[in-house]
Amino acid sequence: FSRCHCNKGNEFEDYFLKRELLMGIYEKGFESPSPIQEESIPIALTGSDILARAKNGTGKTAAFCIPALEKLIQIIMSFKHSFHVLDLYFCLAKLIFLSISVSAVYVVILVPTRELALQTSQVCKELGKHLKIEVMVTTGGTSLKDDIMRLYQPVHLLVGTPGRVLDLTRRGICNLKDCSVLVMDEADKLLSPEFQPSVEQLISFLPPNRQILMYSATFPVTVKDFKDRYLRKPYVINLMDELTLKGITQYYAFVEERQKVHCLNTLFSKLQINQSIIFCNSVNRVELLAKKITELGYSCFYIHARMLQDHRNRVFHDFRNGACRNLVCTDLFTRGIDIQAVNVVINFDFPKNSETYLHRVGRSGRYRIEQELGAEIKQIPSLIDQAIYCR
Ligand code: ADP
Ligand code: MG
Repeated sequence: FSRCHCNKGNEFEDYFLKRELLMGIYEKGFESPSPIQEESIPIALTGSDILARAKNGTGKTAAFCIPALEKLIQIIMSFKHSFHVLDLYFCLAKLIFLSISVSAVYVVILVPTRELALQTSQVCKELGKHLKIEVMVTTGGTSLKDDIMRLYQPVHLLVGTPGRVLDLTRRGICNLKDCSVLVMDEADKLLSPEFQPSVEQLISFLPPNRQILMYSATFPVTVKDFKDRYLRKPYVINLMDELTLKGITQYYAFVEERQKVHCLNTLFSKLQINQSIIFCNSVNRVELLAKKITELGYSCFYIHARMLQDHRNRVFHDFRNGACRNLVCTDLFTRGIDIQAVNVVINFDFPKNSETYLHRVGRSGRYRIEQELGAEIKQIPSLIDQAIYCR
C-alpha cells in the first residue's frame, strides 16, 4: 500500500462501525484509515455535508463509501426494527395501490464516467461484502430496459452517471424520496456544463434532509456557486498541501510531432514498464497511435468514448487483469481510475489544461504547470538507461 499515506493516529475501530462493515474493510486489506478517510469518515457519519479535496490515490473512494455504507445499514435496520403488524397492512395497501412497487434507493453515488461507476460499485460491494445490501450500477450506453427490470428488485445503493440516474428517476423507476446520501465523486467534473444540469435536477428529487458529500482532487472556483446553493454548512476538507506526489517521477521531452512515435518506441525499449497508460487528445489519434504501437510489436489496447459500451467494459476489464501492457486512451480515463499495476503514464499529447495533467499523472504541463503547482519536471536524459527506473 504505497499510494495511500496512512496516518498511524486513528483506527477503523474508532468509528464504531458495524462489525460486518469492519470485516469488509479489513478483508479488503485496509489496516488503518488514510488522512482523507480520517478527516471525512467521522464527519460524514454525523450527517454533515462535505466538500473534500485530496490528491489522487489517497483513498477518497473508501472515504465516502464507508460512511455511506454505515448509514445505509442503519436505515435498513431502522426499517426492520420499526416494523409492526400494522405496517404489514400498510405495505400491502401500498403494493396494491402501486400495483408494482419500484425500488427505494437510499444512497446514490454519482461519477462522471462509466468505467469509474463500475470500479466504484465494485469497491462498495467489496467493503459491504458482509452486509445484506443490494448495489446496482447504471450508466449510459447500456440497456435501459435491463436497468428498469433490475430496479423492480430491491436496490439500496446506486452508482451511476448523472444522465442515466436522472432518466430512471424521471420515469419514476428509481425512487429517491428516501435517498439520504448523495455522493459526488470527481465533483468538479460533475459540475461541468456536460453534467451540471442533470445533477441539479437529480437533487430536486432528493428529500430535504439529504446529505451531500463532494470529493475531488481539483476544485475550481466555479464550485463555490453550487456549494452555496445546495450544501448546508458543509464541512470543508482540503488536504492538498500534501501535493508532493512522492513516488512519481516526472519527465518531459521536446519532440516534434513526426518524431513522437519514434520517441515512444525508444521509451518502450528502455523503461521498465509494468503497465502504461498513454493519453491522446482525440479519438482518431488514440486509434492511430494504438495501431502504430501494435505495428512496433508492443501489446496495446485502446479505449475511447466512441466505442460501444460492451467493448469498453471488456477492454477495461482485460487491461485491469493484465491482459495487455499498454493502453492508449482519451481523457475518458483521466479521472479516478485506479489500476495498481500502472507504473508509467505518458502524455503523448499535451494535456489541455493543468487540471487534466493533474488528473492524468497526479500533477500539472511544463512551465505553466510547474508554476501553478511548484513542481519540477526534469528533461528526459539523452541517454536513457537505468537512470529512469520506473517504480
Ligand atoms: P482516490 O479516489 O483518492 O484517487 P482511491 O479511492 O482510488 O483513491 O484509492 C487508491 C488506492 O488506495 C486503492 O487501490 C485503494 O484500494 C487503496 N486504499 C484506499 N484506502 C486504503 C487504506 N485505508 N488502506 C489501504 N489501502 C487503501
Ligand atoms: Mg477517486
